[in-house]
Amino acid sequence: MNPGGPTDHTLAQGLLAGGMMDRPLMIADVLVFASDVYGDGTITSRRVEGDLHTTTYADTRKRTEQLAKALKDLGIQPGERVATMAWNGYRHVELYYAVSGIGSVCHTINPRLSAEQIEFIVAHANDKALFVDLTFVPLIEKLVHRLPKELKIVILCGREHMPDTSIEGALCYEELLAAQDPGFAWPRFSENTASSLCYTSGTTGNPKGALYSHRSTVLHALMCAVAFQNALFPGSSVMPVVPMFHVNAWGSPYTAPLTGSNLVMPGPNLDGASLFSLMDEVGVYSAWGVPTVWLGLLEAIKAAGRPPMSFKDVVVGGSAAPRTMIEQFDDMGVSLCHAWGMTEMSPIGTQANLTPPLSELPKDQRFDLKVKQGRRTFGVEMKIVGEDGTRQPHDGQAMGELYVRGNSVIKEYYNNPEATAENFDDQGWFRTGDVATIDPLGFLQITDRAKDLIKSGGEWISSIDMESAALAHPQVANCAVIAIAHEKWDERPLLVVVPEPGETVDKDSVLALLQNSFAKWQLPDDVVSVEALPLTATGKVSKLTLRQQFQHHYADNN
Ligand code: AMP
Repeated sequence: MNPGGPTDHTLAQGLLAGGMMDRPLMIADVLVFASDVYGDGTITSRRVEGDLHTTTYADTRKRTEQLAKALKDLGIQPGERVATMAWNGYRHVELYYAVSGIGSVCHTINPRLSAEQIEFIVAHANDKALFVDLTFVPLIEKLVHRLPKELKIVILCGREHMPDTSIEGALCYEELLAAQDPGFAWPRFSENTASSLCYTSGTTGNPKGALYSHRSTVLHALMCAVAFQNALFPGSSVMPVVPMFHVNAWGSPYTAPLTGSNLVMPGPNLDGASLFSLMDEVGVYSAWGVPTVWLGLLEAIKAAGRPPMSFKDVVVGGSAAPRTMIEQFDDMGVSLCHAWGMTEMSPIGTQANLTPPLSELPKDQRFDLKVKQGRRTFGVEMKIVGEDGTRQPHDGQAMGELYVRGNSVIKEYYNNPEATAENFDDQGWFRTGDVATIDPLGFLQITDRAKDLIKSGGEWISSIDMESAALAHPQVANCAVIAIAHEKWDERPLLVVVPEPGETVDKDSVLALLQNSFAKWQLPDDVVSVEALPLTATGKVSKLTLRQQFQHHYADNN
């Protein structure tokens, strides 16, 4: 077993060493660069306190230097973990850079995890301090007796907003900063030093940690800057709706400063109407997030009768964007680009921007490509492996489990040898758990999570394809297709739909629509309506919860 592949950097015999400096890739250098070159680039944040706050990269650098000194005064040592529980905002950006910059590890905690999971990861990470937004103070008050006694808790606000809290010894963030002057010499150390820690919100078992390094983070940022040139350029405004507590907001707090793009941080209000008004006010050019968020924004756009001003680009990841969503955005002149990735990949692995010849294809053929998850970013390699363990051709037909390797892919889970042993093959490729095809142009298409595929009478049915087709029905606002145990066929698909407001979904007309793209045996045996779909901590539809809810559906209805 060789997780992560060869790591021997010694020069093979006979090779000539390059004559170049070996300067380590450091996260702090990204912000120093941004402040030197794009110093007037901005971070605009909707604050938890309610107002809109704007700062520059030059000022962010100064405050990050103050924070670095404050962290040292708090006794945070290199290598120690410092946790955050916060929305997207400028203070969270400061923490990203200051914590990693002093050689400590920024551990972002997803507040939507259960109390048990939060307790587990704070203990597993052995966090020394926790920086929390005002929103999460009540959550921490309930949980604090289950957290280590020595954990230092800092509330992300000024003295005037400090809550009357039962958290003993809670510190005020702005006071910590005010006690320090700017000016700090960032230490230099190996680029392979750990920088940040994210736990995957596994639907079963305890969360597993991906421990990124300075090198992997900076390379990922450079790779994304190249892959998303259409969105990331000096002066463009990029709004990560994907939270900074979920895979570092897809790396945007690094890629935006690196490319001179402005960051727009939406804070706590992620509903369609709030996003619309923020985007309109600030002039967001490119917005990044999971499909559920864009369903909300599309509703707000419908209500307003126009898209937000300056809005031209949307990057969708986390789950598949349905074709109807791609079409709706395209119709209003907004280009939707799929990105696929995983926490274990920092997270971006592919992107579906079309190169010039492809973008000139007829609309239908363009959308055929855009529904796919896209082509690999530099530094990521992919292979698909069939049920018999053989590597499958990239012909767009052969389906297999997707494995990846690359510069920003984990080589092991943090302190979890069991999970590491289960998730790498003997050549060091990481097993994604996704099932996919890859076409001759290199476009990856995720057909399912391995555990979400439906196997009916020995044949596979892709839930993602069927959901995309069902969403084209005018009465269907959202939907999920899940596998339900079946006596005769092992599993049969069930379509769970959320009707458009004030509508009821007519089962026969949905099935008639699906018949256009699916064989009869693939069609769901039933269509049930629900008010809302259950979501996971990362805002994806929780098929596990749905499967549990409807597990006896076909047995009961036989
Ligand atoms: P996470 O580690 O929480 O970011 O989840 C990673 C998983 O989300 C992947 O393994 C995929 O199953 C799914 N995923 C991410 N991006 C996409 C996408 N663009 N389309 C379909 N599934 C996606």
